[in-house]
Amino acid sequence: MKFSQIPYKRPSIEAYATTFLALLTQFDKADSFLEQDSIFQKLYEHRDEFDTMFQLAQMKCDADTTNEAMQDETGYFNTVLPKTEELETAFYKSLVKAQFKDQLKEKWGAHIFNIASNKIKGFSPEIMDDLVQENQLSSEYTRVIGSISIELNGKDYNLTGLEKLFVDKDRSIRKKASSAKWNALAEKQEKLDSIYDDLVNVRHKMARKLGFENFIELRYIKMDRIDYNPEMVATFREQVIKHIGPIVQKLNNRHKKRLGYDHIFEYDRQFQFNSGDPSPKYQPEEILKKGRDMYASLSVETEEFFNHMMKNELLDVINRPGKAMAAYCWELSKYRHPYIFACFNGTSNDIKVLTHEAGHAFQYYCSREALIEYRWPSFEAAEIHAMSMEYLTYPWMNNFFNEDVEKYFFSHISKSMNSLLFNCSGDHFQHIVYENPTMTPNERATVWRDLEKNYLPTKDFDDCDFLENGRYWQWIRHLYKYPFYLIDYALAQICALQYWQKNQKDKNGAWADYLNICKAGGTLPFLELVKKGNLRSPFDPGCVQMVAESVDKYLDSIDDSNF
Ligand code: ZN
Repeated sequence: MKFSQIPYKRPSIEAYATTFLALLTQFDKADSFLEQDSIFQKLYEHRDEFDTMFQLAQMKCDADTTNEAMQDETGYFNTVLPKTEELETAFYKSLVKAQFKDQLKEKWGAHIFNIASNKIKGFSPEIMDDLVQENQLSSEYTRVIGSISIELNGKDYNLTGLEKLFVDKDRSIRKKASSAKWNALAEKQEKLDSIYDDLVNVRHKMARKLGFENFIELRYIKMDRIDYNPEMVATFREQVIKHIGPIVQKLNNRHKKRLGYDHIFEYDRQFQFNSGDPSPKYQPEEILKKGRDMYASLSVETEEFFNHMMKNELLDVINRPGKAMAAYCWELSKYRHPYIFACFNGTSNDIKVLTHEAGHAFQYYCSREALIEYRWPSFEAAEIHAMSMEYLTYPWMNNFFNEDVEKYFFSHISKSMNSLLFNCSGDHFQHIVYENPTMTPNERATVWRDLEKNYLPTKDFDDCDFLENGRYWQWIRHLYKYPFYLIDYALAQICALQYWQKNQKDKNGAWADYLNICKAGGTLPFLELVKKGNLRSPFDPGCVQMVAESVDKYLDSIDDSNF
């Protein structure tokens, strides 16, 4: 079914719960495997129906933010989602003690039982009100950030709109835009501090109610981090500082040299080349057409996938007034459709949507007939699928960037080096924050600034008080809305870069490995997926170093003086 033909109707939570609980009773009482398995599948169909309406409401809301009726619908889901979590937890409780558990395990795989036991540990009806409060705080953060309006040279900008001024050739414009941005955020600082403080408190409270030491333990369980722990993550971060830090230092020196500056300030950071950023040379419709050709020539699987996306209107990427400034890949469960939402803006970001978000979507497409919990893997694994697609499509990038293609590769890989350090520092910050939930907002800011100096010593804020006082992070939505997600990008990047390496020597081998983990979807925990994809674990001693050395060698081989 095409996206525009899918009808929306608000599902009643009461009716949903009644049917859900009736099916669950039948599941508990089933007296043969066949019967239990058939009710098991009916429960999944029932969940798919409800989830699809939630997904559709959110997508329609993002597609037209002026649609107030749809805003009401997403508001409705905010209030009823904790109830669905309660129902799902009841299902998981029945599942782990099911009479025909062994046969279910044989048919559906063991990992669903790992996931079920984590879901049980991570929920209790006692935290229902806290979950609602967490949702509300998260929406409030989006509202505060979204409401920021900046007047500059007679024009109004929101934070996203302002971004293009940070790559303006005129340094004074960049500087002006930058002060305007940080001043606008500084005006909201008290509000942003208090939202974060409330979030930390409510998260800590939930963790304690569920019997955990702190929110870190709870969050690892909720993110299904089954085969690694905070100590391993801390060692990984140290490896990144040690081996990626010097690369970023070298890149910073080359950046200065290219621009002819003595010093790179925060407002220069995104302006990488005097000749401008590498950008695609084509209009959105043409980019999509070239995307279709690219996926047709990459593999039979990607050809089928991309045609499915186009035919069913599952790529809403062309910009128009009223669209939310967001980029994501999601699903319409009942129809097994992946869905990509973004706003093309003529920058290299458009190609990122076409590769990164399409990587997520392709993995979903490969595992779309699996159980709900297996259609997506845990986040760090999902980001491998997405980031690797950015690299595996390198051989086609000349079709989009023409003469700028080398500059694009150089810029893409340089950015990923910076992100590795940033994501690790943001992760370190969150471990300290949630380990010490009684810290004041000012103490947290001091922690941030200290970490920033350690991870990203080349950052220079040119006396901007807001940043010097350690509040850069307040515009990063992950820190408010998706706690502990940042490290997932870093872990995945180290894996994706291994496909980048392999793709240069053995294209077919790299593709086969990648396809393997796309098909595995979420049936395995992170480190087992890594193994299945013939990748070295990012936690392996020496792995970060191995990746860093080959990136360093590549960057050294590029003459960027003419970019
Ligand atoms: Zn992603």
